[in-house]
Amino acid sequence: MNNIFCEINDYILENEVAYAIFDKFPVNEGHMLFIPKRHVKDFFDLTRNERESIFELVDEGKKLLDEKYSPDGYNVGVNCGEVSGQTVMHVHVHLIPRYTGDTSCPKGGVRGVIPDKMKY
Ligand code: 5GP
Repeated sequence: MNNIFCEINDYILENEVAYAIFDKFPVNEGHMLFIPKRHVKDFFDLTRNERESIFELVDEGKKLLDEKYSPDGYNVGVNCGEVSGQTVMHVHVHLIPRYTGDTSCPKGGVRGVIPDKMKY
């Protein structure tokens, strides 16, 4: 199963099981993706070790972004399946730094996956 991530080798962070890259079309400056080395499409098919290894890198990525960009908050998310918005069929966790004023009304955050339901 080859996909767009297979062609990328400029890793920002890496461990034995996973790696991190910057998103080519960032939602905000510093948007990172955390990807298992094993080719697996669905987040729910990851092993415990893969999940732990990915989230170790998410923690490291957060530190790196805090130092580099000093964001005011973060969204962490995974799109699971086409219906959820997944476009690259190799699991990846998004770490999106948030900056005060980057949107006029951030209330609801990840609820915005269905824009009409974002506010409650
Ligand atoms: P998905 O919609 O599958 O959750 O997210 C795929 C992500 O991959 C998107 O945020 C998109 O911007 C990013 N992306 C797509 N193509 C490339 C690429 O060639 N390089 C990098 N670094 N990111 C990519």
